[in-house]
Amino acid sequence: MLREDVNARFETGFLRCRFVSGRREFSFISGLTHRAILRDQEAAPVPVAEDERRTWWMFRGRFFWEDDGLTADEVRALIHERDRRRRRRIDRAIDLMLADEEGAGGPRREPIPEDVRREVFRRDGGRCAECGSDELLQFDHVIPVALGGASTPENLQLLCAPCNRAKGAALA
Ligand SMILES: [Zn+2]
Repeated sequence: MLREDVNARFETGFLRCRFVSGRREFSFISGLTHRAILRDQEAAPVPVAEDERRTWWMFRGRFFWEDDGLTADEVRALIHERDRRRRRRIDRAIDLMLADEEGAGGPRREPIPEDVRREVFRRDGGRCAECGSDELLQFDHVIPVALGGASTPENLQLLCAPCNRAKGAALA
């Protein structure tokens, strides 16, 4: 099993630093070792810490742990597969949402270009910008169209239907 560890990081101090995962702190390493890790992890996953069960790896700025005793190539392959699955899931979600909106009809107004929708959806991670929900998502103009807001990524965000309604009520 391989998991991304979003609570992992290097805590750097003067001349030395250590790897931390959540509240777990590992042994100090030298600044030299730390710099070597940062350099090497751009090309391939680098093991940065281990305990009785898990090995932590760093790859292109992200941290992962696995408990299968994997090689760097295997870790890299699994990360690639995870990222590909995630991208496919997001693409499918966008397609579904676009299809639903087209089917819904409703008041017609200048549609948001599809590439803009995709960019906003990816940027917001497929979640409501207010509450983080991934259901009933809608594109919201931060500055409403009626007030001159443009359909640009900068002026668009994902909101779930309840948050969008709450915002509409606040503006009314
Ligand atoms: Zn929400």
